[in-house]
Order: sequence, then C-alpha cells, then structure tokens
Amino acid sequence: MKKAVVIGAGISGCTVARALAEKGYKVTVFEKRNHIGGNAYECFDEHGIRIHKYGSHIFHTNEQRVYDFLSRFTEWYPYEHKVLGLIDKKFVPIPFNFTSLEALFDKKESDYLKEKLTRVFEGKEKVSVLDLLNADDDKIKDFGQFVFDKVFVNYTAKQWGVPIEQVDKSVINRVPVILGYDDRYFQDKFQVMPLLGFTDMINNMLNHKNIKVKLNFDAKKLFSFRNGKVYKGSFPYSGKVIITAAIDEMLNYVHGVLPYRSLEFEFTNYNQPDFQAAAVVNYPNDEKFTRITEFKKLTNQIADTTTVAREYPMTYDIKAEKGNIPYYVINNEKNNLMYSKYKAEIEGIKNVSLLGRLAEYKYYNMDNCVLKALELADKISG
Ligand code: UDP
Repeated sequence: MKKAVVIGAGISGCTVARALAEKGYKVTVFEKRNHIGGNAYECFDEHGIRIHKYGSHIFHTNEQRVYDFLSRFTEWYPYEHKVLGLIDKKFVPIPFNFTSLEALFDKKESDYLKEKLTRVFEGKEKVSVLDLLNADDDKIKDFGQFVFDKVFVNYTAKQWGVPIEQVDKSVINRVPVILGYDDRYFQDKFQVMPLLGFTDMINNMLNHKNIKVKLNFDAKKLFSFRNGKVYKGSFPYSGKVIITAAIDEMLNYVHGVLPYRSLEFEFTNYNQPDFQAAAVVNYPNDEKFTRITEFKKLTNQIADTTTVAREYPMTYDIKAEKGNIPYYVINNEKNNLMYSKYKAEIEGIKNVSLLGRLAEYKYYNMDNCVLKALELADKISG
C-alpha cells in the first residue's frame, strides 16, 4: 500500500492526511504537542467555557470546495464575525465603516464624507486605507490619515513590534475600510463555525481506517532530510512526506531561525454572563494588549460565566519560556531569502512537500490551508 507521513496535526496536516487516506494512502500523522488541531485547537477551561487556547480562529471562505470538504466533518452554525474598536473613547465597528464615521465625526462632516466617498469610489463596497491615503482629493486623504492613525498605526506597532512602515502592505490590507454600513469583519460567501468546535471537526477528519496519529512525537527524532533524500532513522524513506511543521525547526535551524511574531494570552473568567459588546474588541491606541476575545460569543455557548483572553503580541524566541510559539510569519526580503534556502533544500527531495503557514512561511487563513492541502493531495496522488 502507498504510504505517507504528515508532520504536524494542524488544519493543513489533518486535511492532507484525510485527503490522501481517501485516495488509498496509509497515513501516519506525527504531532509533537499532546493534542491535534494546531493553533485552531479548542478545549474547555476549568469553568466549563470552550476556549481557543492559541487565539481565536474564525472560519470564513469563498471557496466552495473548502466549504464542501469541511462540511463532511462537522455541522455548522451561522456566524458573522463582528469586531469593535475603542477609538477616542468610543466603541466603533472595525473595519471602519459609515457607522464608525458617524460616531467620530459631527453630522455635517460625516454626511459630507459619506457622500464624497460614495461618489469617488462609486461601485466599490470597500477600499484599502492605503487607497484613501493615496487619493487625489485632500478631504479623502485627511480622512484616510485619520483612519490610518486611529485604527492602524498603533495597533500595527503593538502587533508587529516595528513601525507600520516596516510592515508589508498585504498585512494592512487584510482589514479594509467599508464604504457603507456592513459591520462584518469578513465579507466572504461562507461564514460559519463548527457546531462542536474545530477540535471536534479535525478529530472527525482523522477518523479514517487509513490514518494513524502519533501525539507527543517529535518527528525530527525519526526523520531527517539531507543529500536530496529523506531518512527514517538511518534508512532512506520512499513514502511521501508532507511537512507542515516549522521548516527551520525540521532542518535544525541550519540557515538560522526564521523570524515570527509570537503571542501571549491572558485568560480571565468573569462571574457574569457577558463581558463585552462583541466577540472581539480591539484596543488600537489604549492598553498593552491588542484585543480582547470573549469566547462564548464565538462558540455560541450558553453559560452563567464568561471567559475572555487578552492578547499580548511579543517577540518570538525559540529558547524563551514565553513567546516560543511561532504565530505570525514576518514576510520581508531578508526573511524570505532565509526561507528560500530552506525551501531549496526540500525542493531537491522529490517525495517531500511543504504545506501550511509554518512550512510555507505564509500568512494563510484557515481556508487557504484547507485548499492548499486538498490541492497537494491531488498533486501527490496524480
Ligand atoms: N490591524 C490594525 N488595527 C486593527 C485591526 C487590524 O492595525 O484594529 C492591522 C494589523 O497590522 C494587523 C492586520 O491589520 O496585524 C491584520 O489584522 P487581522 O485582524 O487580519 O489579523 P489576525 O486576526 O490574523 O491577527
């Protein structure tokens, strides 16, 4: 029987494992943590509240294939993510929209700006804040500067630990400015969450006769990659190997440690049914944390108490006690160059593939991970 090894049991690894298993491969998934799900892992805290231990994960996609695939492993509930931001002492919708505008400008000014934005960007439902800053019209430029300063500059500096000018534009452009009253964080066609959570959904994916999962297992101890070959112990291995773990770690950091931004979550349970007005509240200009997530509002859980997480971005350091988890890739020229050295080594090994955020060094959303995994399984199985 055809064999495959998947390193890492996050959403990328588990998707490719399932897809290959259905194509007749015997798949072993190795995971160094004591649980599946990667950073999308959900569990119950000691108060019985279901939390996202590694930060909130919200599913949204325009990809029919991704939605159909995942729908086989979970029931969904409809969930449209809404975020508020504390700006000038007011909680206003993020992405910044006309409601935010009306809350922060007087009526005359906000009427003027709404009319002008609608006219200048006719037919567009959203724009990048960078488009506003680059507009020819001075009023639009000033408005763009306002949004940039109040929503993006300080949040981005906290999140990434560098001034906003050093952050890739694609990161800033993840959050648009809405030219209307749509107050959803995402505009995708499918906006749903797994009824019993991501861990349950991913567990169902792994429940296949051709899949074996080994937790608490550091695949580095068994597999090595050198001289254009992959070795299992001291023997060349001829099955397929899909690496979703951090590529630099898998190759023993020979080209250096790939930079990431890390996070620390401070979880607090409050003896009250509700804590805040939205699932996520951003604090661009106040506080050391970037945002507070209230989990019940994401997971649909009904309970007398509520648990929230304050999210503190921090330096990534593989040796530190805190901040040793790689969360966000930092794509800049220097880091991408280091990554390309790792990639070149793996590309020379024909039965090994790289997949997902940590192995491809890309800022993927969950749906990207699933789509890429399905496409890789197609490619591997010919
Ligand atoms: N961002 C910001 N202010 C906000 C929300 C987001 O400046 O209130 C910027 C920030 O640079 C962040 C990026 O937009 O890193 C992407 O935000 P997103 O919410 O997509 O990040 P994620 O949920 O992946 O952490």
